[in-house]
Amino acid sequence: MTLPLPTERAGTLAHRTHHLADGREAVFFSDRGTPPVEHIVDQRPLDARSGGGEVRFDRLTGEWVAVAAHRQTRTHLPPADQCPLCPTTGGRESEIPAEDFDVVVLENRFPSLGPGLDELPDPGQVGERSLWGAPSPAYGRCEVVVFTPEHQGSFASLPPERARTVVEAWARRTEALSAMNGIRHVFPFENRGEQIGVTLHHPHGQIYAYPYPAPHAARLAARSRAHLAGTGRALMGEVLADETAAGDRMVLAGEHFSAFVPYAARWPLEVHLLPHRQVPDLAALTGAERDELAVLYQDLVRRVDRLYATPTPYIAAWHQSPVSTADREAGWLHLQLTSPRRAEDKLKFLAGSEAAMGAFINDVTAEQTAARLREAAR
Ligand SMILES: [Zn+2]
Repeated sequence: MTLPLPTERAGTLAHRTHHLADGREAVFFSDRGTPPVEHIVDQRPLDARSGGGEVRFDRLTGEWVAVAAHRQTRTHLPPADQCPLCPTTGGRESEIPAEDFDVVVLENRFPSLGPGLDELPDPGQVGERSLWGAPSPAYGRCEVVVFTPEHQGSFASLPPERARTVVEAWARRTEALSAMNGIRHVFPFENRGEQIGVTLHHPHGQIYAYPYPAPHAARLAARSRAHLAGTGRALMGEVLADETAAGDRMVLAGEHFSAFVPYAARWPLEVHLLPHRQVPDLAALTGAERDELAVLYQDLVRRVDRLYATPTPYIAAWHQSPVSTADREAGWLHLQLTSPRRAEDKLKFLAGSEAAMGAFINDVTAEQTAARLREAAR
């Protein structure tokens, strides 16, 4: 009998899809070697799901805008004993009808996109004026990724095997969502800290599956496609090679991934973590790459937590290629972690130049930030 290779160990991570009382999907992922939750019964008398919001096409910018006026009643910073992401225990029913679990991904009860799935009308073919009278339903899917049954903590404080399960959940949901009708772009992310709008303390992230490439992703994808067509090389691969050679903005390097502060960082704290190999999204990573990603991503967020006496708010954004073939050939998965914190008690707010013009002014150099993150290694 031959032992499995390390890269095949991902196959032992299992998941099961269940349904909540209102029909939403809840996908239970289990740590390596542990069986997933086999059976759930959601006894809550939930109302039927609402029809969701709409999207409107902005003909001045060529971008879609989602309008989610139905979300105003969503849960906002509940006390710990009413947390919707804790397990269901005793008489208290939460969003997760199980007494224990490892990682759960569930459809958001108050989604900005969805629950319908379909193709958006093409603004160029329908005629932009007619879209003013008839906004499209906000097709798509919004999911919540619950990192742990524990109410306290953060991604940084998860046991290593749990962090690995979260990476697996991101990868498998990316694959499943990318295959859904009308989905054009899948975006896993984590907001950490009330200062940047977190409405639930329980350690969790989110995944948005858009019916269009998000504007920032579309700009990046267009430059990546043009660079590949013009040079035959991947744009992000050149950036990674140049940053590795320069060295002064590097933060950490492993066998499969490296992290650096980008040369033209926009935020007082900004780091990119990316694979050494061109892959379009998390679903395309091998088991060995997912193993190392879990370790290095935890290393990175722990360094961020060591920069100040209190936890630093951050947005951890997984930039994945839009699902089109041309974008997948040119794109390169990367994590962009940013924070508006510029000192112990100071946050950078997006003021006129940034918010209105998209023209960023950073008070800190990328080289200074990289040096601080290298020193925060242990
Ligand atoms: Zn909780």
